[in-house]
Amino acid sequence: MREAGVVILGAGVAGLALARLLWERGLRVLVVAEDLGEASRTPVALVNPLRGKRFTLAEEGEEALERALAFYTRFAELHLEVFRPVPEAERSKVAERLSGLRHRFEAGGVVLEEAFWLEPRPLLARLAQGLPLLRGRVRAWVPPFLELEGGVRVRGEVLVYAGGGRGAHLLGLKGRHIPGLVLALREGFPRAVSYRVYLAGSALGGSYLPGEEAYRLPPPTEGEVEWLLAGAEALVGFRPRVVSCWRGTRFRLPGPHLFPVEGGFALTGFGSTGFLHAPLLAERLASRL
Ligand SMILES: Cc1cc2nc3c(=O)[nH]c(=O)nc-3n(C[C@H](O)[C@H](O)[C@H](O)COP(=O)(O)OP(=O)(O)OC[C@H]3O[C@@H](n4cnc5c(N)ncnc54)[C@H](O)[C@@H]3O)c2cc1C
Repeated sequence: MREAGVVILGAGVAGLALARLLWERGLRVLVVAEDLGEASRTPVALVNPLRGKRFTLAEEGEEALERALAFYTRFAELHLEVFRPVPEAERSKVAERLSGLRHRFEAGGVVLEEAFWLEPRPLLARLAQGLPLLRGRVRAWVPPFLELEGGVRVRGEVLVYAGGGRGAHLLGLKGRHIPGLVLALREGFPRAVSYRVYLAGSALGGSYLPGEEAYRLPPPTEGEVEWLLAGAEALVGFRPRVVSCWRGTRFRLPGPHLFPVEGGFALTGFGSTGFLHAPLLAERLASRL
């Protein structure tokens, strides 16, 4: 049987950010996961606090962006600046919302100067480097144990659930599972552009299908690809050429994303802002453990 002070189920951005911080503070930590990331394996991730059609600021958006910048800069190449189209009539409202964030207006929109995109897969590999990691599928959460397939048991003084949408049934967490598609492109977009869909690096992503109650990775639909390409055309004036596609499912919980559960804590349910919020909340949890 393996054991550690803190056992973290999940090696996505949430689990690995927390594990890294605890490990750096000298705690005995063990990550248990089937693979490095699930939703976190998206080819490109935007870290952008300005959300949706109504230009809302993500919860704790300013602080989350500051912590994300400081954290990821140690492990990944960050591509600064995200451009967001803004209709003339909305400009003053947007300027007011962004008063705490570095930005500038350009023709047709606003540039968030400290928002960025990064490539998650090399980031996950760097975060995991040197960390104690046990690969396997957890089939039950029975504090203080995790029970893995094959009969292995892992004991943790504290258990942390960071298993995203795929493991949510282990704790009976009820949220929305929202499939998204990312197309890999021939063209490159060094500066991210985002409205409804996003273009960043060689990727075009967005969520077209409705959320569901259970975790699922449905095959891409024609409507979805067409919707993404039309969205890209509206942003940059042409349809990029598609090389391949990647399907992932976001998991969104309505309440907080860091909360107590039996045997420890859960750090999960971020929806489409996992890369924005994980460093801030992982730091908060790390300082409690
Ligand atoms: C198409 C798409 C595009 C996205 N774009 C962005 C973006 O631009 N910016 C952004 O901030 N966010 C984006 N997101 C959301 C982001 O990917 C998630 O919020 C984030 O990755 C969630 O990370 P996580 O660590 O909570 O979970 P995950 O990455 O899902 O990791 C879950 C981990 O738990 C493990 N696991 C689960 N169940 C078990 C089990 N039973 N046994 C063992 N291991 C288990 C998995 O192997 C994995 O290691 C996007 C999501 C999708 C689908």
